[in-house]
Amino acid sequence: IMARIFNFSAGPAALPEAVLQQAADEMLDWHGSGTSVMEMSHRGKEFMGIAAQAEADLRELMAIPANYKVLFLQGGASAQFEMIPINLLRGKGAADYVHTGEWAKKAIKAAKAFGNVNVVASAEDKAFTYAPAQASWKLDKNAAYVHYTANETIGGVEFHWTPDTGDVPLVCDMSSNILSKPVDVSKFGLIYAGAQKNIGPAGLTIVIIRDDLVGHAQPTPPAMLDYKTHVDAESMYNTPPTYAIYIAGLVFQWLKKNGGVAAMERQNIAKANLLYDYLATTDFYRNPVRKEDRSRMNVPFTLKDAALDEEFLKGAKSRGMAQLKGHRSVGGMRASIYNAMPVAGVEALVAYMKEFAAQKG
Ligand code: PMP
Repeated sequence: IMARIFNFSAGPAALPEAVLQQAADEMLDWHGSGTSVMEMSHRGKEFMGIAAQAEADLRELMAIPANYKVLFLQGGASAQFEMIPINLLRGKGAADYVHTGEWAKKAIKAAKAFGNVNVVASAEDKAFTYAPAQASWKLDKNAAYVHYTANETIGGVEFHWTPDTGDVPLVCDMSSNILSKPVDVSKFGLIYAGAQKNIGPAGLTIVIIRDDLVGHAQPTPPAMLDYKTHVDAESMYNTPPTYAIYIAGLVFQWLKKNGGVAAMERQNIAKANLLYDYLATTDFYRNPVRKEDRSRMNVPFTLKDAALDEEFLKGAKSRGMAQLKGHRSVGGMRASIYNAMPVAGVEALVAYMKEFAAQKG
């Protein structure tokens, strides 16, 4: 029998075991169709049904209002870094961006190719270890939109509140915390997320866009980069990432079966607290992020002595815990604990961290 490890990867990340099992069971013959989902026409009634169910389940899980379109696209969050300014600048002079770390930086850089970008708040003064309070944002009421990164996957900084930007559309990169807690979609103009953390396989990108923001790109962009193209074609302008949509659909079903986003939030708080509560008791490990802004999804930490990093990772691996190495830009460790990470995985990690610190401290 095969043993599954606890996979702390930041993405592509662990998926619920029950989902993988179901996909395995259905691999050769989906529901008596005699084919794998991978082999189906995206315009056939079987796959159209899979896609429609996935959208309906996502709408239910996030309580997405009727005046929002849901798109299943490709190109990752990185393509959205460009599609957002292309589509949402709408001839207005500038957009406002909040700078919270590596991913905000990439969004800002991409947008600068298409218009003026005002960085209205930045956490650079403290090495991106906090989420700037809304009161400090220097918002422009004529901005085309306001962009922020709900969870910095590398820095481990998360917004535990939703900004209020009045009539200016709020645009959010939710790549690494979508579906981890309830959010009020009506406060946003656009939400986007790569699937490979909390949703499913890489190759699928979710966009949730308020319908009045569709179709105003100017000058008219290439068809593939125009939200209107994909809205009009219901995400079937070209071949969508069919298998990724199918797995995402299974994950949505799994979420519904397990209490939805409210239950996920409770479990994610409990998991994150196991780690942060332990970190508070020791100076062997360190997380630099301000307490109120610590991510429930990605927990970066450094060891007192970086020379012990390799040994820590080796010991973790021998105990069935993988992908704990921190991002190359910050070093140290990072435990990504998305929805699919069971409590037992975090308990095993904390037990190992204690043991290692006792040995080496
Ligand atoms: N934004 C955030 C917050 C991310 O974590 C990532 C990927 N790690 C990206 C954007 C880029 O996503 P993609 O690789 O899907 O383009």
